[in-house]
Amino acid sequence: MPQTDKLYEGKAKILYPTEDPEVLLTVYKDDATAFNAQKRGQIEGKGEVNCRVSAALFKWLESVGVPTHYIDCPRSDRMLVKAVTIVPVEVVVRNIAAGSLCRQTGLTEGKVLPSPLVEYYLKNDELGDPLLTRDRLLLLDLVSEDRLAEIKKMALEINRHLQYFFHRCNITLVDFKLEFGLDSQGNLLLADEISPDTCRLWDREETDPEAKVMDKDRFRRDLGEVESAYQQVKKRVLKQIEKL
Ligand code: C5P
Repeated sequence: MPQTDKLYEGKAKILYPTEDPEVLLTVYKDDATAFNAQKRGQIEGKGEVNCRVSAALFKWLESVGVPTHYIDCPRSDRMLVKAVTIVPVEVVVRNIAAGSLCRQTGLTEGKVLPSPLVEYYLKNDELGDPLLTRDRLLLLDLVSEDRLAEIKKMALEINRHLQYFFHRCNITLVDFKLEFGLDSQGNLLLADEISPDTCRLWDREETDPEAKVMDKDRFRRDLGEVESAYQQVKKRVLKQIEKL
């Protein structure tokens, strides 16, 4: 671990300062939590998978015009990122009904949505990350109307790119969570991670509803073979990156 004091420790990552105040070091952990940390465990190799998958996707998204916080990956479980002020809103984009959308609306899991759904959740563990309406978001002064429009546009653009990318990996991108940050000049950057922890990914080579799950739902739902599913995502993503 770096010899400096950590700035922040989250459920899946630790943030350290570097000599440059504009740059932070993120160490990805193998610790796994679900249901707002009520379920805890370890997924061996997860830190490395999530770091390498995120690094590959951030680099690729940058190359197609999406600004991200990514700088470099000095080790397979460590990422140098631009220091940003995180917008305290978790942005979820859904292409197919699953998870909390099904639980809260009664939609059938697997229903393809007529168009991508963008949702906002308050990033607050104590309150259980509640779903926000647009008016609540503005009421809490979490973002301005203009910034919200920018976030939604960027989230939909990222979805378009990631859907294409994962399709080429023979994976269906069901839904995913994004976080955004503002750099010292006030620019909006994609931050946090994009990994099997934060995306629902279904294997297009499988029809069985449990066998096709390649993401953290294997851990949440005790489906077993969590490590191998994560490794398989890494393998396909890195192979696809080489081809682009
Ligand atoms: O649980 P729910 O269906 O709302 O999750 C939607 C997507 O957002 C899933 O891909 C899930 O992994 C991700 N998510 C996340 N972190 C959270 C909540 C959801 O990465 N705190």
